[in-house]
Amino acid sequence: MRDALRCGRSTVTLALTGVADSIVRTQVAVIGAGYAGMSAAMDLADAGFAVSVYEAGIVPGGRARRIPGGDGTDDNGQHLLIGAYTELLGLLRRLQVPVEAVFARRALRYWVEGGMDLQAPHLPAPWHLAMAFLLVSDVPWRERLHALRMLRALQADGFRARSGESVTHLLDRLGAGGRLRAFLWEPLCVGALNTPPERACAQIFLNLLHDIATGPRSHSDLLIPRTDLSALFPEPAAAYVTMRHGSVHLQTPVTRLEGAGTLVALTTAHGTRLFSHVIVAVAPRSVSFLLGSWPSMQPLLAQIDALDHERIATLTLEYAQTVRLPFPMMGVASGEVDWIFDRRWLLGGAPSAGGRLACVLSAPATQRTLDRARLTENAHRDVERLVGRCPPPVDSRLVVEKTATFSCRPGLVRPDEITHDPRVLLAGDYLASRYPATLETAVRSGRRAAAAIIHWAHAATVGKAPTSQRHSSQANRSGMSGRSGRPITASKRKTER
Ligand SMILES: Cc1cc2nc3c(=O)[nH]c(=O)nc-3n(C[C@H](O)[C@H](O)[C@H](O)COP(=O)(O)OP(=O)(O)OC[C@H]3O[C@@H](n4cnc5c(N)ncnc54)[C@H](O)[C@@H]3O)c2cc1C
Repeated sequence: MRDALRCGRSTVTLALTGVADSIVRTQVAVIGAGYAGMSAAMDLADAGFAVSVYEAGIVPGGRARRIPGGDGTDDNGQHLLIGAYTELLGLLRRLQVPVEAVFARRALRYWVEGGMDLQAPHLPAPWHLAMAFLLVSDVPWRERLHALRMLRALQADGFRARSGESVTHLLDRLGAGGRLRAFLWEPLCVGALNTPPERACAQIFLNLLHDIATGPRSHSDLLIPRTDLSALFPEPAAAYVTMRHGSVHLQTPVTRLEGAGTLVALTTAHGTRLFSHVIVAVAPRSVSFLLGSWPSMQPLLAQIDALDHERIATLTLEYAQTVRLPFPMMGVASGEVDWIFDRRWLLGGAPSAGGRLACVLSAPATQRTLDRARLTENAHRDVERLVGRCPPPVDSRLVVEKTATFSCRPGLVRPDEITHDPRVLLAGDYLASRYPATLETAVRSGRRAAAAIIHWAHAATVGKAPTSQRHSSQANRSGMSGRSGRPITASKRKTER
C-alpha cells in the first residue's frame, strides 16, 4: 500500500517519504458532512487548506437532513433554533444565506395548549423576560412572582448548579412547582436537553437559561427553518468549500482509517488517500468503527461508547385540506405528541396546497410503543383540539431517530476535540460544551477542531509547534496557553465551547 496511495486531489503515486509528507502537509480530511463536519470544512477552506469531506449519506446534514418523500422538503426531524445560536448564524451570514428569509424568526413565544401562553414583549433584556413572566396567562400571581425571584437568585449565583444535580433536584431546591413547572420548566428541559428532568443535567439546563436570560433580547428569539435542513446550511457550506479548492464526496463512506508514518491513510470504495490531519465528525456511535484499531484511542473510545442515547420521533401528518396552526409551533400539554409545527406555513406553501404538520415526540414520549397508525389517529385528535374538527390526514410518515442525541446526564464528562494522536481530531455535538446536543454545539465543535489544525499549522510554519498538542489543548480550555502560561489571544480562541 505504501507505494500506491492517492494523495490529496492529485492521483500521482507517492512513496511515504519526506517529500510526500511535505506535499500532503496541508491536506485535511473531514469524515462526516453533518453540521460539525461542514463548519470545520468551511473554516479550513477559508484558511487555505485543501479540505476533502467524505459523507456516507446521499445528502449532507447527518442528523439534520432532508429525506426523500413528500415534496422533497421533508426532514428527518423538525428542528428549532434560538437566537443564542450565534456561531451557526454567523456561518450562515458568511455563506450569504439570507438569514431573515430562511427562518421564521419570532420573539420568544411559548404557547402550550390548555396550559399557558408566555411571550416576551419588545423590551430590552432582561426586561423582556421579566415582563414575559409577569404577563404569562393562566398562571397564578404567586407563581409568576416566584419565577422572577428564582431567576434573580440564579443570576446572583452565576447560574451554577450543584455538582451532579439533576433538573428535578434543581427545581425542587428552588421551590419551582405548579403550572410553570408542569408547562414550562419540565417541557423546556425535555425539549432542549432531550432528556427527562429526573436524569437531565441541571448545569447544562442553567447554561441555556443563562444565555437566554442574560444575553441580548435577540438570544431568546425562536427560529424555525423555512427550508429543509440540508439546504439550510450543509449544502451552501459544501458549495463554499468546493469553490475554495476543496471537495465534498457524498455517498462515500470511509471504511478504514490507519496511521501511515506521520500521515493518516483514509480508505473509501474509491481507494486510499493520505492526509496530514483527519477530523472525525461522525455521530458518537460511529467513532469506534473508524478508530477501533488505534491502540492510543482505546480510553477515548471507551468514554464515547459509554454515552447513553435518547430517541426523537417525528410524525408528519399530510392533510388534503388546509390545516393551519395559529402559531408556527405549539405545545401539546396532555396529548400523544409534545409539539406540533405547521410545516406548510413554514415552507411557504400556498393555502390551497393542503396542510402538513410535523408532530414531535421527545425522549420520554418515545418510550411508548411507536405504532404509526395509532400515533396518527391520536396526533390528529391533538390537532383537532388546536384547530377544531377537521377530516383526518390522508397520509402520514414516521421517522424515529433512535440515537438522536446523547442522554444529557448530570456529571457527564464529555471528551474534547483533541485526541492523543495529533493527526486525528474529533468534532460533534457530543463533545465538551456548555450546551446539550444541538446544531450550535456541533458547529462550535467543528470550528474548534478546525481552529486547532490552523493554529498548529501556523505554529509549524513559524517553527513554534507545541511539543504536545494535547497539553496545549487542555490548557486552552482554561484560557491559558500550554507552555508559557500566557493567555491565548482572541484571534486564536475563535470559538466558544
Ligand atoms: C429528530 C431530531 C431532532 C432534533 N432537534 C433539534 C433541534 O430542534 N435543535 C437543535 O439544535 N438540535 C436538534 N437535534 C440535534 C442536532 O440535529 C444534532 O445535534 C446535530 O445535527 C449533530 O451534528 P453532528 O455534525 O455532530 O453529527 P451528525 O449530524 O450525526 O453528522 C455525522 C455525519 O457523519 C456521517 N458518517 C458517519 N460515519 C461515516 C463514515 N464512516 N464515512 C463518512 N461519513 C460518515 C453521517 O452520515 C453523518 O452525516 C435534533 C436531532 C434529531 C435527530
